[in-house]
Amino acid sequence: MEEMVKLGDIRIMEMLEPEFFGGVLNHNIVIKEGGPSGGLLMIDTGLPGYLDAIENHLKAWGFSVEDISDIVITHWHHDHSGNASEIRRISKAKVYAHVNEIDFLRSPSKYDLSYDDVKDFMQISKQQFESTAKRINELKYESVYVDFPLKGGEVISKFKVIYVPGHTRGHIALFDGSYLITGDAVRGVNGVPSPPLRFFSWDYRLALESYNKLISLPYSVLVPYHGEVIYRW
Ligand SMILES: [Zn+2]
Ligand SMILES: [Zn+2]
Repeated sequence: MEEMVKLGDIRIMEMLEPEFFGGVLNHNIVIKEGGPSGGLLMIDTGLPGYLDAIENHLKAWGFSVEDISDIVITHWHHDHSGNASEIRRISKAKVYAHVNEIDFLRSPSKYDLSYDDVKDFMQISKQQFESTAKRINELKYESVYVDFPLKGGEVISKFKVIYVPGHTRGHIALFDGSYLITGDAVRGVNGVPSPPLRFFSWDYRLALESYNKLISLPYSVLVPYHGEVIYRW
């Protein structure tokens, strides 16, 4: 069951990807009122094709896609950037991403995955592997224009931008002193923070360094893009 959660001034819309390497993968898209351009701030945007689901979630909260004024993309992967261009076109939202992601957002590359890499981490058949890999690589993906390139250290609606490379070259997280939005730099696995998957990461050693940096922050609520929200009161 997809969930809609409101925690303080952070809202989370959960999208579900029903067939991801033999399991269900959730996506936690974060919405916050009071974006720098005056409307809603959206953090990550889901896979291409999620726009109707996004609109339905927003409607249930009394908003629409037109109300999105700012979009932060934690990294270029399709499940994070997939609807950014379409939303930007509809709502004139400004897009923010790290400078190191710009080339990948402009001309996204395919995932170069092999069954041998994946089977050590996931109990799946070759057929399950191939159907997911094929689906991911056949997604119709629009290139994304970045209005505001980031380096880390900027503040966006009280969120400080933290540069956490490793999963990708220009991955960022956002932290407001309480809420930590991690993208894929931290996963939530059964309520426990976990590092990114090795086979999906550009530089795993850096990814582990970034992961350790993030989980040592004094957060109250950690929102990973995949997995469950983690509370530490
Ligand atoms: Zn990713
Ligand atoms: Zn992801």
